[in-house]
Amino acid sequence: METKKVLIIEDEKPISDIVRFNLTKEGFETETAYDGGEGLELALKTDPDLVLLDVMLPTMDGFEICKKIREKSNVPIIILTAKEEEVDKVLGLELGADDYITKPFGLRELIARVKANIRRTGMSDIVGADPANVKDFGSITIDTNRYEARKNGVPLDLTLREFELLKYLAEREGKVYSREQLLEDVWGYEYYGDIRTVDVTVRRLREKLEDDSSDPKYVLTKRGVGYYFHRS
Ligand code: CA
Repeated sequence: METKKVLIIEDEKPISDIVRFNLTKEGFETETAYDGGEGLELALKTDPDLVLLDVMLPTMDGFEICKKIREKSNVPIIILTAKEEEVDKVLGLELGADDYITKPFGLRELIARVKANIRRTGMSDIVGADPANVKDFGSITIDTNRYEARKNGVPLDLTLREFELLKYLAEREGKVYSREQLLEDVWGYEYYGDIRTVDVTVRRLREKLEDDSSDPKYVLTKRGVGYYFHRS
């Protein structure tokens, strides 16, 4: 398997050093930036498989970087936030991050998050793609070979998490899932119950998927229960 590259944007050297050391030990290639501007440049130039992004950075903060990366790329982004900064988590997700980790974090948790968020299949290794991995749900096509969803044949510009959420719900169409259940099944690890992550991801998914995101036809809300997919 091709080596996956993680870009670490973190100005606190002791943190970036230990993160880099542990990711390298796990077989990842790493790049490190110690300020915001440099981090953004590397993110756009070096085509990483995942970005670990601190919020408080010199020259440009993590939110700005997140927004700018998203204008160009769907690379998975994990925001590193300090413990008390509740608002950062939601803002980070709103701006297109896929996940966040609260400092101080355990290294085992960090590695698990990196692995859970990184693309398991590179866009380039689809030789021998299995047609069984391409499924139609009405006008929506879910192509697991390419990690791509299409609507009436047109690719949707989804992040990995948005794709996986759509795939999960579509493959179980009509069945309603609570946010807690979705966190466990789609995010794939103990998430300490922050269900806003699901709401924010659903909202972003709808903006890309629906003709009118305020009147969704595909990803529907069952009030007081959760979300489900409807073929349209
Ligand atoms: Ca910092």
